Amino acid sequence: MICKLCGNPNMDKPESHIVSKFFFDWLKRTSPTGFLREPQNSNKRLQDGLKLEFLCSNCEKVMGKWEKSFSEKIFKPLSNCNATFSFKCDDEYILKFGVSIVWRALEYNYGMNLISDMTEEELNDMQKALETWKDYLLDNSQGIGKNHVYIIPVKQFLDNGQPISIAYNRSVGIDFKVFDDQYWGFVFVKVPNMIIIGDVIGDPDSNMKKYQIYKQNTIKDEVLPIIPEVVVRVINNSIAHFEKGAENISQHQIEKIRYTYNKTSNK
Ligand SMILES: [Zn+2]
Repeated sequence: MICKLCGNPNMDKPESHIVSKFFFDWLKRTSPTGFLREPQNSNKRLQDGLKLEFLCSNCEKVMGKWEKSFSEKIFKPLSNCNATFSFKCDDEYILKFGVSIVWRALEYNYGMNLISDMTEEELNDMQKALETWKDYLLDNSQGIGKNHVYIIPVKQFLDNGQPISIAYNRSVGIDFKVFDDQYWGFVFVKVPNMIIIGDVIGDPDSNMKKYQIYKQNTIKDEVLPIIPEVVVRVINNSIAHFEKGAENISQHQIEKIRYTYNKTSNK
């Protein structure tokens, strides 16, 4: 296998997490039983997140540094805070971490052939986004151009006046959506207490600016955040899936995904 990031043909580490491991570690630590449980089948225990042959050990190490900083300086304080939490985006590890998350999620969707019904132009935009993020992660470029990355804290988020369910807040999921009515396509990563989004196609809603990772910005966890309507649609859609249990992957499904991924992504 070839490392998806640096192209190293000698992968010495066969498996890496598609969504950072520290999120799953936190879920395990804060779960009353110490395991991740599937609501539909509480006998099954899902110890870990989805792992695939993805990165070489060197790339894992580089990403691990950004993950550690993000986990300690932002994720844990946000998760442990009982009041409103906010953070400044003035340190580079925040953008590096955010890009590493959306790049892995889009690369996974693409590698699994999960993206269909796209025009040639949209496919081009998607490949461009993957290249732009990759170049930034590899320090081949200084920025990410128009493929912005956002973090929306949703710990306090109220949906129709009701607090978002604790179970959903603790869920993990990834998605890719294109909205024709707004000509905006993005990759969506739900992790505990936050949503991470990366622009892939078209133009983002102007309300996204306050969640964008850029040096001068301070991102706040608000009770009534102004989230664009299409993003709320994706959230509601993923809540509906989550409640049906569709987002809770079993070990058997993980094996199937791994098999399909390895078969389709060797290009
Ligand atoms: Zn590598």
